[in-house]
Amino acid sequence: MLFDVQPKTSIDELFGRRAEYLSFLDAIEKRRNFFIITGPRRIGKTSFLYAALNELEKEYGIPYAVIDARAATSLNSKYPQRVIAERLYKAIARKGFVGGVISRIKGIRISGIEVELQEKGFDIIDVLSAINEGNELAVIAFDEAQYLRFSNEDLTKLFAWVLDSLHNIVLVFTGSQVGVLENFLRLDEGDSPLFGRYEVRISLPRFNPSESLEFLRRGFEEYGIDVNERELLPVVNTLDGVPGWLVHYGAHRIDGLTNEEAIEKVLEKAMKYVQTEFEELDKLSPRYRVVVRAIARLSEGKGYARWERIKGLVEEELGEKMDEKAIRGYLSKLMDYGFVETIGYGKYRIPDPVMYRVFRR
Ligand code: ADP
Repeated sequence: MLFDVQPKTSIDELFGRRAEYLSFLDAIEKRRNFFIITGPRRIGKTSFLYAALNELEKEYGIPYAVIDARAATSLNSKYPQRVIAERLYKAIARKGFVGGVISRIKGIRISGIEVELQEKGFDIIDVLSAINEGNELAVIAFDEAQYLRFSNEDLTKLFAWVLDSLHNIVLVFTGSQVGVLENFLRLDEGDSPLFGRYEVRISLPRFNPSESLEFLRRGFEEYGIDVNERELLPVVNTLDGVPGWLVHYGAHRIDGLTNEEAIEKVLEKAMKYVQTEFEELDKLSPRYRVVVRAIARLSEGKGYARWERIKGLVEEELGEKMDEKAIRGYLSKLMDYGFVETIGYGKYRIPDPVMYRVFRR
């Protein structure tokens, strides 16, 4: 059902994304082994990932494991390798595809399909090598991979080793904080472990207005509800093609809210979500909020704010002169996190209408 609020897990449940799936499949067939899937929050990265991987498994027998990097680092932020190894092992063992090989991994006993870790020396290198020795292609995906940057070991070295030496493993990374993910992977820096690897990028865009309308119409149709498309226009305009918010809107309508109530409810939730995400930057400095608020205020009517005016307003708010480099630093990080984007030299805007509302207040 399209209005199901959980991530979708099969291609049949997924609205659109056909071209993206075919590109993914095509690159797998060409034996590419390094993928990066990006898109803003709630755009459907997790859904796309599971749907695509389940399809690959069903149609081509390629097993996969997905590691939620956010969860892995929240369990052990400095040393997520252990959590990753454990998750990987469990996922792979459950699928049973490496058969005899897994029993060779140190410190692990298999009882039925469950796996027990017997000692501390459980090692990610062993697990990855065992998966590779399985002699079949396997996909390992890291959802919201930017969180792995908190590890106290540089995990990109491990990934480079996998890409260079373990030819049966395909690595997939997803990330909503695109710039943060890029800074972590450091693909363009000559001295970085992943420099020079060939990556396949799949970016998931927002639905365009017609796609959003069609998404909502079909969602209602699944419940036998015939809606007036004109009534849906304000929804499409306010929620701007982000499937996650469209789904919430649909779910509220199905639960009996009116059009206006449902829009209000989604905005409320979406705004809280943005606030929570922004707390990561608040922790770094309260000035990020001052800068993004200035952009929101200045872009009213025009849709963007100019660099000099942002600087002026931030200085006015803070009551002090700001160094140009410092403001550029704040802007650059806000862009890394996806809160702000640039639309030409010196012009900045807040791309997400929900974020715009949060910071406009
Ligand atoms: P992300 O990982 O980018 O934050 P999710 O995959 O969790 O996004 O999706 C957010 C919500 O939107 C979920 O309820 C999911 O079911 C829905 N969704 C996202 N993309 C699609 C799609 N293409 N078709 C149907 N539902 C989708």
